[in-house]
Amino acid sequence: MKYGFCAAILSIFALGVVQIYSNWHENFKDIRLEMSHNAQIARLLVDDALIDGSKFLDITKDDLVSEGLISSKNNLAIDNSLRKSIAKFKVSSWFHTYGNMLFVNSSGDVMAQSDGPLTRKINVSDRFYFNSLKEDSGQSLIVGPEVTARSNGKKVFHLATPLVDEHRDFQGVLVIQVKAEKFKEDLSEVLVDGYENLGLYLSGGQLVMALSDHVQGPISEGIVQKINSDQKANDVFNIQPDNFLGYTTIIAYSEIPNLGLYIIGSSSSKFIWLRTLFWSMKFLLLIGLSCLLVGYFAYRLLDSINKAESENHSAIHDPLTHLPNRRYFDELFPKIQGDCRRTHSPLSILFIDIDKFKNFNDLYGHECGDKVLKVIAKTILSLRKRPLDFFCRWGGEEFLFILPDTNQEGAIHYAQEVLEAVRSQDIELNDGIVVHVSVSVGVATDIDGTHNISDDLIKQADSAMYLAKQSGRDRCATYQEGMSRKAS
Ligand code: GH3
Ligand code: MG
Ligand code: MG
Repeated sequence: MKYGFCAAILSIFALGVVQIYSNWHENFKDIRLEMSHNAQIARLLVDDALIDGSKFLDITKDDLVSEGLISSKNNLAIDNSLRKSIAKFKVSSWFHTYGNMLFVNSSGDVMAQSDGPLTRKINVSDRFYFNSLKEDSGQSLIVGPEVTARSNGKKVFHLATPLVDEHRDFQGVLVIQVKAEKFKEDLSEVLVDGYENLGLYLSGGQLVMALSDHVQGPISEGIVQKINSDQKANDVFNIQPDNFLGYTTIIAYSEIPNLGLYIIGSSSSKFIWLRTLFWSMKFLLLIGLSCLLVGYFAYRLLDSINKAESENHSAIHDPLTHLPNRRYFDELFPKIQGDCRRTHSPLSILFIDIDKFKNFNDLYGHECGDKVLKVIAKTILSLRKRPLDFFCRWGGEEFLFILPDTNQEGAIHYAQEVLEAVRSQDIELNDGIVVHVSVSVGVATDIDGTHNISDDLIKQADSAMYLAKQSGRDRCATYQEGMSRKAS
């Protein structure tokens, strides 16, 4: 039973492990699909946001052109124009993502900004967007890598468009900051837990913005090459670890070709494991609770079984000699008798009584008497030859030996052995004194199953024992038909 419960608990546990393992496998497959899917959603989102930004730049540029301010040095007029344009952009749902808008002249000096009047001279000729557009003002819109804003120290990236005059000569740049943090928030709301990281990268690998705070700098050259050599606009692939202890990385990407932008998501197998464990937490808790419950009830059940067994054992055993008691005898004897009748085999009883035991108690004390009872019980029990022979304490200093399938002759032989064993048994009392006792044995045998009442046979054995006492003790006597008594 104990082992059964242990096996049940182990099975539940094993089931949990198997479940988590298969969850992990499923997860691995699911996550690839999910990542690919999310990379495309992210592309749509980024596209949407940047298109809004680019429209805003176009509107502002158109206003500046129509007001003849492209190559103007009138800061105030440009300031006013920028602010008017911003008012139009406020309806865009992406408005909050955008920050300061700058009007930069062909030398890289910021002439005006939407945040308010310029209080100091700012030059942005070191910025990627300025250099890139100065070199090639044919591009309509470019996105720059992540930088720290000079104005407020926050992470931003830029959207920029060239300002060209009617001769298509480069006159400067109109640029707007995109607040990386805000942008990140909007993206992560949609892509809750699909990735370990999701980033926006330029086709050269430079970081524009990443969802994860610990990601800085460009993405690995290997990944850039792999993506650039791929003909598809979006895909998922695995990057195997350098050594067997490393983690496989899953990369999912999608492209915004006109802006030269990649949305690249990555997850490592470690991340998937952790995610699986997190998802499995409920399941693990359930398993843990089931194990605890099964364990608890198993403990309670085993405990009550043990208690019942021990209660049952003490109910039918004598506490002093640990031999079966009279109650046990009462339960068992009818069965033994029934068996003997069915098989037409003889049944004998030895009624054993310690001689002059009262005197012994008086002389040595009750405690020594108890010791004698224990030793004698053990001595006689050791003579038992067959598993079906049943030896019990009848009461006081009296014992019964039930011998199924034993005729009178065999029983007398048994009785002689008992007499001899008891007689020669040294019993050492507490103070080192060695004593000897003897017993008288009455033998009764039911040869043909005529004793319908079990007491009959016991009474006969008792009478025979009485006869042995009368004949001088330390001997056995048999009960004879017609009550003729004979001591031997
Ligand atoms: P006899 O040879 O005729 O059997 O004499 P006896 O003294 O053995 O017989 P009797 O029936 O007069 O006394 C039995 C004694 O057994 C009485 C009692 O003190 C003692 N006795 C019965 N049960 C126990 C027991 O559990 N422990 C001890 N120490 N003595 C017991
Ligand atoms: Mg007695
Ligand atoms: Mg006695």
